Amino acid sequence: VSIGAGFVVIAGPCAVESREQVRRTAAAVKHAGAHMLRGGAYKPRSSPYSFQGLGREGLVYLREAGRETGLPTVSEVMEPTQVAHMADEVDMLQVGARNMQNFPLLSALGEIDKPVLLKRGMMASIEELLLAAEYIVSKGNKQVVLCERGIRTFETATRSTLDLSAVVVLKERTHLPVIVDPSHAAGEARWIAPLAKAALACGADGIMVEVHPDPQNALCDAKQALTPAGFEELMEQLDRLAGACAARETVTSGPSDAGHADVLWQPVGW
Ligand code: PEP
Ligand code: MN
Repeated sequence: VSIGAGFVVIAGPCAVESREQVRRTAAAVKHAGAHMLRGGAYKPRSSPYSFQGLGREGLVYLREAGRETGLPTVSEVMEPTQVAHMADEVDMLQVGARNMQNFPLLSALGEIDKPVLLKRGMMASIEELLLAAEYIVSKGNKQVVLCERGIRTFETATRSTLDLSAVVVLKERTHLPVIVDPSHAAGEARWIAPLAKAALACGADGIMVEVHPDPQNALCDAKQALTPAGFEELMEQLDRLAGACAARETVTSGPSDAGHADVLWQPVGW
């Protein structure tokens, strides 16, 4: 999977909960057309009493599900001591919003030969996100993917405020691929599809979304998890939108020889 050439969809549960749960999710998202599988084994939970993830056992289940479906995997790394074994288990290491400025972690990730998915901190500016990426890149690891996942604002209706202008600015200021996580931004499953489509329309290189076979019983981020059917519907909507964007490009790029009726263009005097 090459991120930055085409629209990449990463999907999977917030947390790996069991072998069966991640297997079922992987099969469903693969069937619907996902390109990569996500799943947290080390979970940065706001409350110490919440499910903290299965740790190494979770990484094994994630790897198995990835191998079974042929989907490369991504999982969150929380501290420098986890980097070495995670680099052996997963195909891409994720830095979560809460660790975007964990500088020892960023430096350790700069020394491995695996792509890093760097999420924007919920209180971080675009500048700070780019400087965090710089920590990784300056140590020698050039494979960094940026992720806009919503920031904290005065607005409380959504879990976070999805800053899609960050995508536009980042695409201008850096060569790094930029993806969008509408799940953590929206916090509600029913708002994910429109935000994911907006991400595609504004030029993001992909999305990462949370999918769970039984959202009501998810141990983490239950409200924002798409069902496999909801994910399939999202993929169909994205396909239609990608087609519409491509058609629009054809129309605006001048007379086409592909059987379109050419619309006569009249200059208007404003
Ligand atoms: C996640 O992707 O599971 C996650 C914890 O996201 P964030 O770091 O953006 O809150
Ligand atoms: Mn989550």
